Amino acid sequence: MTQNGDEGLPDTSATSMHRQSPESRALLERVLSYSRDRMAHNQPLDAPLSPEELATRIPQTITPDGLGGDKALRIFENTLAPSCISSDHPGFLSFIPNAATEAATMFDLVVSASSIYGGSWMEGAGAVYAENEVLRWLASEVGLPPGAGGVFAQGGTIGNLSALVAARHSAQAKRTASGRSLPSRWMIACSSEAHSSLRTAATVMDVDLLPVPVANDGQLTRKSLESALNAQPDGGANVFAVVATAGTTNLGLIDDLEGIGALAEERDLWFHIDGAYGLAGILVPELKPLFRGAERADSFIVDPHKWLFTPFDACALVYRDPSIAYRAHSQHAEYLDTLENDALWNPSDYSIQLTRRARGLPLWFSLATHGTKKYREAIAATAETAQAVSRVIRETPHLELVAEPTLSVVAFTRVGWSAEQYNHWSQKLLTSGVGFVTPSSHRGKPILRFAIINPLSTLDVLRPILDTLAD
Ligand SMILES: *Cc1c(COP(=O)(O)O)cnc(C)c1O
Repeated sequence: MTQNGDEGLPDTSATSMHRQSPESRALLERVLSYSRDRMAHNQPLDAPLSPEELATRIPQTITPDGLGGDKALRIFENTLAPSCISSDHPGFLSFIPNAATEAATMFDLVVSASSIYGGSWMEGAGAVYAENEVLRWLASEVGLPPGAGGVFAQGGTIGNLSALVAARHSAQAKRTASGRSLPSRWMIACSSEAHSSLRTAATVMDVDLLPVPVANDGQLTRKSLESALNAQPDGGANVFAVVATAGTTNLGLIDDLEGIGALAEERDLWFHIDGAYGLAGILVPELKPLFRGAERADSFIVDPHKWLFTPFDACALVYRDPSIAYRAHSQHAEYLDTLENDALWNPSDYSIQLTRRARGLPLWFSLATHGTKKYREAIAATAETAQAVSRVIRETPHLELVAEPTLSVVAFTRVGWSAEQYNHWSQKLLTSGVGFVTPSSHRGKPILRFAIINPLSTLDVLRPILDTLAD
């Protein structure tokens, strides 16, 4: 009907969405201009509206004939975006904030415009090459050997799950090869303080979780792990992996990586480190000793969208021996044969996803632009801010530290406050546009926590938030 190439193509309604027109160019300028403004770091904190409130403020947006880009963009800009909390706002201190560098954010736009299939070398060689350079750098910082490698997966939940799937596959293969029987239920050991995504992984894998109680300091030690394993009916023979957390989300605590890693080796258990938030701290020379033993890991994750300053969403998942992960994750299908029959690096072979955005490229671009030194400095600066905040808290009679900050999470209480008072204060702080600090809990008691990963969350920003806790 038509020839290839723009000249011969009639402007039918089927092609009109894909071909550029003066109107679409104008819309592109407005979208880029919106993005430019949004990246200026002067966005308000904003707060969510209820479904009912949103329904009264915006018309039906999905219609047979479309609203036109201008109108749709206005609805986003005026109503939808302001009803999303800006997780890069310096006052955003809940959960783990997001604080992408300008370079990383701008490159996310480039990735979006580039239509790169990041699942295979054949299609995305250049992108995969650059991503792998970043993964190798992270692996060497953690102390893994040069053969280590992996993939940028979607997030820590998928990263943990993928690593544990590889771990079980490996345990199963080893037992089968040596003629031993397989346990009726496999088990993963981790600290009772470990992230909820490990329970999710266990559920998805249909294995059990062995949450090991921790001592008062919240750290999982070799000793407690050993007694928990020994207390199992079969002495822990059905455990195939142990997960240590390097930076708990709630308090930023780091498990005894050295002791746990050594025990895992003695018992031939897969040693996985969940460093989604905290492992980035290993890049700071002063913090590095806290991560002693990390080099023993069979696999680790760290989320660049947390303390490595990239936009949502990315998880660096690295294996000591990627060939093990390959055997667990490589997908086989006739239409994939051409991808399989080469020895090249296909990222889809290392996690449970096939099609993949080249989501490591924003970090690559930012690192290539700024160099690793600036990263170390920015991470160190946020850890120093956490120390400064904890000094202010120590000097304030109505505030009490829950623990000395290990990394960049400061957990504290307002003396004498009930859960209700915390909630009321938190709501008021958000609606006033000053900060977002949701109450958390520790050993059944309500606490407040500042998760400081944004270099713009300086003491000057945080002190006024502490001041509001006076009354
Ligand atoms: C955030 C976090 C996760 C989950 O990562 P997502 O990217 O949110 O899926 C897992 N473990 C720890 C320790 C985390 O802090």
